[in-house]
Amino acid sequence: MKKNGLLIVLSGPSGCGKGTVVGKLLNQRDDTVVSVSCTTRKPREGEIEGVHYFYKSREEFEKMIAEDAFLEHAEYSGNCYGTPKSWVDEQLAAGRNVILEIDVQGGQNIMKLRPDALSIFMLPPSLEVLEARLIGRNSEPEEIIRRRMETAIWEISQADTYQYQLVNDDLQTAVDEVNAIIEKENH
Ligand code: 5GP
Repeated sequence: MKKNGLLIVLSGPSGCGKGTVVGKLLNQRDDTVVSVSCTTRKPREGEIEGVHYFYKSREEFEKMIAEDAFLEHAEYSGNCYGTPKSWVDEQLAAGRNVILEIDVQGGQNIMKLRPDALSIFMLPPSLEVLEARLIGRNSEPEEIIRRRMETAIWEISQADTYQYQLVNDDLQTAVDEVNAIIEKENH
């Protein structure tokens, strides 16, 4: 029988570069996929339905909660985010590693629900760099950036609830580190 894939929780404050690291990692590993979440947040410029997120109205999102369609869901800076359950379980059963790029509340929920999940926390090199990245993204008003910075400070205080912590200073180094962790845990 085929071995189940690893469920991998990757958290870190919004703007720390999780998406970029995961994108590069997936180019290097064909045994690993990333779960596409549902969100009530509006798409940022350049984001694509079904690639970055499935964009839902509050009503649609609440209906999915009622139908038990999420493995976990959480509110982050005023928007709802959720991980579709059936897709994740299908991929794991097919032997693929599944990365969940989710916030700390979601990550901690997954650790309780699925104690065999691998958990990795990604830190920005500093709060100043994080703020500069959020501002550089140029898509959000100051108030939202301020809220995300407050959330980031709380999230960073939770980093040691994850099995692994790494700093995303140099992109390729961060990709290599995540790759090495998956490699180690897969064997
Ligand atoms: P953003 O709006 O910047 O895309 O995402 C905000 C935060 O929500 C990020 O930390 C991101 O990882 C997290 N997030 C994305 N999808 C999910 C999800 O399905 N569940 C949870 N709990 N957090 C998510």
